[in-house]
Amino acid sequence: MLRLNDIVERVQAARPGGDIELIHKAYVFTAKVHHGQLRQSGEPYLIHPLNVAFILAEWNLDEETVATGLLHDTVEDTVATVDEIRDLFGDTVAQMVDGVSKISRVVISDVADQKAESLRKMILAMGKDLRVVLVKLADRLHNMRTIGHLARDKQVAVARETQEIYNPIASRLGMSRVKMELEDRCFEVLHPEDYRELVRLADERKRDRESHVRSVVELLEKKLSESGVEATVKGRSKHIAGVFQKMARQGIDFDHVYDFIAFRIIAKSVRECYEALGIVHSLWKPVPGRFKDYVAMPKANLYQSLHTTVFGPNAELMEIQIRTEEMHALAEYGVAAHWKYKEGRPVVGKGDQMFLWLRQILELQQDMKDPREFLNTVKVELFPEEVYVFTPRGDVKELPQGATTIDFAYAVHTEVGNHCVGAKVNGKMVPLKTALKNGDVVEIVTHPAHRPSKDWLKVAKTSRALNKIRAFVRQEQQERSLALGRQILERELRKYSLSLNKVLKTKEFEETLQESRLKSADDYCVSLGYGKMSLLPLLRRLIPPEQLQEKVKDSRLGALIRRVTAKKPSAVIVKGMDDIFIRLGNCCHPVPGDPIVGFITRGRGVTIHAKDCPKALENDPARAIEVAWEAGTKAAHPVKLKVVCADKPGLLADISRTITASDVDIRRAVVLTTRDKRAICNFEVSVNDAQHLATLIKSVEKLKNVFSVERGKG
Ligand code: MN
Repeated sequence: MLRLNDIVERVQAARPGGDIELIHKAYVFTAKVHHGQLRQSGEPYLIHPLNVAFILAEWNLDEETVATGLLHDTVEDTVATVDEIRDLFGDTVAQMVDGVSKISRVVISDVADQKAESLRKMILAMGKDLRVVLVKLADRLHNMRTIGHLARDKQVAVARETQEIYNPIASRLGMSRVKMELEDRCFEVLHPEDYRELVRLADERKRDRESHVRSVVELLEKKLSESGVEATVKGRSKHIAGVFQKMARQGIDFDHVYDFIAFRIIAKSVRECYEALGIVHSLWKPVPGRFKDYVAMPKANLYQSLHTTVFGPNAELMEIQIRTEEMHALAEYGVAAHWKYKEGRPVVGKGDQMFLWLRQILELQQDMKDPREFLNTVKVELFPEEVYVFTPRGDVKELPQGATTIDFAYAVHTEVGNHCVGAKVNGKMVPLKTALKNGDVVEIVTHPAHRPSKDWLKVAKTSRALNKIRAFVRQEQQERSLALGRQILERELRKYSLSLNKVLKTKEFEETLQESRLKSADDYCVSLGYGKMSLLPLLRRLIPPEQLQEKVKDSRLGALIRRVTAKKPSAVIVKGMDDIFIRLGNCCHPVPGDPIVGFITRGRGVTIHAKDCPKALENDPARAIEVAWEAGTKAAHPVKLKVVCADKPGLLADISRTITASDVDIRRAVVLTTRDKRAICNFEVSVNDAQHLATLIKSVEKLKNVFSVERGKG
């Protein structure tokens, strides 16, 4: 059984000259007030606070925190009061014990609200004194270690709560050792069969693994000392939950989790880390693209290490991490490792960056009274599904999973995004559409003359980049149309020896604006430039008809479009396929009867899209015009049709017969069969209108062994 002395020794080792008396006093007090209480296991309750204090001592925390570990349940579970603790142990310890008790004391009936509220309390407590949360983590760690004594349903509830609240907090605090242990213990409770199976598999291979680990460690140690690098080498298995996640994510079996054993070299200095790396790479060939230098460029939570994967002695992939002792302590114990305290507040240093996110959350929570709303916001912070990438200067950018170099460029600065011509990832030129991975170093190449292109809208993932690109493209089209519109206007007016500036001030121009419901001369020119408006109404006002007749011929497009802008709004009538000014979208193949929208394409007339076509949504809404199908249009319209049916002889012939019987031409048919005895038939047929198509789909659907009939997209 754990003794008080074990705790005292640890504290003394880590902090010579610390106030050991405080710990002794806390022990005596705790033993007194918990006297007679038992744990679920039947052991004296005192075992729990002793273990929590020991865990805190193992993390090298100060005497006040260790004393708080001893006292953490006294206010909640015994007759002791916060005032009593303040009298005996001082303000700091009393505040911490109070903080821990407050987090435990969440009494709300709704489970979701309960979690939200306890998370909120944890975050608030962190903002005041981070050590309160460390005590809570140590408390939960010991409770998870002894969870076997609880009833099954209680175990599941505690494990779920741990998974949702404690694991992410441990992870965010960089305490990977705690996180991994908690993950494994939750996994064991929540998926007992998978856990047992994996442990069994790991045990089966234990002997092979051990001899492999030993030979690699010996070889590395020998080579390192030959080169005068002082370092220790360790090989250890990954934690079970991590292996399981990897298997699930990559869909592989246990034997293919090649980095089940990771080797670690702990060197004395940064220089020796790089020397050790050179030795590793001279022994075994590195796997291209797997080297990560988190020493020169630390992760957002300040993690530092060199990572490399090599082809090991049996040509298997072998992962090796190289770091200094200090980096190692930080990697394992995170915030607890390098956090020095003064009056419970972190001393300025590296930790400040680590807690940027915490400060942001604390600011957010001031405006949020609803704990669930708060939880949702915090979840984004605690479960980062983003990738961390670096600027060449080592600044970290957080982007969502799947973000590309364009998103990165806009994350750096709008101007960098707007002028980006190319990108280098880890020193190599890559296409702009390249998705970024954790740890990538991204450099954006810019050119002052370069402008965003509409194609970028397909490549960008973040709403920031998408909004900026859209705004730019629209702005640019607007500017171009304005310039073009002005040119057209100036040129036409010159033919009648009229000056643009004078015309813009006339009452005739004012009337024209009003009639077309435009606000300014610029708007007028933009409409003119797009081809949305004809010049004719203005010219008719300014010039006597006999002169006008000779010189201006209204273009057919102009005549077509005037119908849209006429006083009584009526749409451009789309007849069929034969109108040279109208093209039907190749993407959505609209047929008469479908809701449609038209877009002016300079020099090419009007393109008609289905209202819900994604291509239509990409277009500049300023270029949209109202369009409508002409009643009774009869023309053949191509449409794609996807029929999924059983792969049965004669069925394709049946389907074809049904299609032609509906008075529809088949222009093309491609049939694919699948392994599960299905056939996917892609037809291209000609129909008259939406009604015709609907009838056709119904009659094919009625056929036996046809599973689904769908109008093809794209
Ligand atoms: Mn406890």
